[in-house]
Amino acid sequence: MPNPVLPPPSLRLTVDSSALAANWQALDRLSGTASAGAAVKADCYGLGVAACVPVLRDAGCTAFFVAHWSEVAGVTAHVPPQQVAVLHGVANEAECAYARAVGAVPVICSLEQAKLWTSTGGGLCHLMVDTGINRLGISVSDANHVEISSLDVDLLMSHLASADEDSPMNQRQLSAFSAVRAMIPHRRASLANSAGIALGAVYALDLTRPGIALYGGVPRAELAGAIRPVARVQAAILQTRHLSAGDSVGYNATFTAPASMRVGTLSMGYADGFLRVRGPGNAFGHAGRRLPILGKVSMDMIVVDLSAAPDLAAGDWLDVPWDIAVAAQQNALSPYEMLTVIGQRLRAR
Ligand SMILES: *Cc1c(COP(=O)(O)O)cnc(C)c1O
Repeated sequence: MPNPVLPPPSLRLTVDSSALAANWQALDRLSGTASAGAAVKADCYGLGVAACVPVLRDAGCTAFFVAHWSEVAGVTAHVPPQQVAVLHGVANEAECAYARAVGAVPVICSLEQAKLWTSTGGGLCHLMVDTGINRLGISVSDANHVEISSLDVDLLMSHLASADEDSPMNQRQLSAFSAVRAMIPHRRASLANSAGIALGAVYALDLTRPGIALYGGVPRAELAGAIRPVARVQAAILQTRHLSAGDSVGYNATFTAPASMRVGTLSMGYADGFLRVRGPGNAFGHAGRRLPILGKVSMDMIVVDLSAAPDLAAGDWLDVPWDIAVAAQQNALSPYEMLTVIGQRLRAR
C-alpha cells in the first residue's frame, strides 16, 4: 500500500524568512562588537525549528541555544553540533554520553554538574553563573571552587531577570557578572537576551542570546523600529452559511443575527492559541476587508461575518489577527506565552 498523502491543512502558519533574517541581522548589529546567537528552544518559540533555524544559519548565526537534550537533533539537522548549546546542562551520565556522542555543548549549571562532566571525561563546555534570577547556574561564591577551575569553559554566561524593565537589578547583575568574569577562565562571555541587547553595548560582551525579538516580539520600546513581525497565521473557510434574522451563533448563542446575513466557519480555536477572550471585537481579514467574529470562539470553531466579502467561499484563506503584542494582551498572556502556545496544528504542513 502506498503511504497515504496528507491532504492540505485548513490552518497555516507562515514564517516570513526575510523578516526573521532581518531581525537576526538587526539584533546582531545592535549587539555592536559582540555577535548575536539565537535562542531556538521550545521549537523556536512555537514557530518551528525546521522553518527558522536554516534561515538564522544563512543570515550568519553560529550559536544556537536549546533547553533540553531532546531538542538537539532537530537543530543539528541544520547546523554543526558544536554550535548548539543545551541550557539545562547535564543531569546524569546518560546526558553526558549523549552530549559527547552528538557533539553539542552542555551549559554547566551547578557544582554537581561540573563534577559529573569532569568525571565522565570533561571537554569543552559552557558555564552558567547565577547573578540574581535564581533559576539555574552556579553561585558567584562558587566561582573559585575546584570543580569550576577544572572545567574548560568556552562561554561564560549569566541571564538577566528584568532586562525588559528599567530596573536597578540590570546594573547589579552586570557588576556581579563582571566580577565573576575575572575569576573564571573562559573564551567568551554572554549576558544579554533580546531585551538586554537594548540596554546597550556594555551588556553585549562577546555574544548575545536573543530569542523573542527574533520571532517578532518587542520586549523593549528601543527595539520597536528594528523588529519586524515574523509569523503570519491564516485559516481557511470550511463552510459558508446563510443566517436569517433571529438565528444565533456559537456556544451560548451570544450572537443573534439582526437581519439575513452570510457567515463563514473557520476551524481555529483554543488549541491554536485563539482563546475565547479574543472573540469580542476582533475580526479576521481578507485583502484589507474586516470580517468580524460573531459569538464565542467555540472550542475549535470561529464564525465570521462575510457581509463585507460576498465573493469568499469555502477554501478561501483569511488572515488571523496575529500581532503578537496585541494578541498577547487580549489573551492576558505575555508575548512569550503567546508565541509558545501556538499549537502543533498550526504548524502542520
Ligand atoms: C530563553 C533564553 C534566552 C532568550 O531570551 P529572550 O528574552 O527570549 O530574548 C537567552 N538566554 C537564556 C539562558 C534563555 O533561557
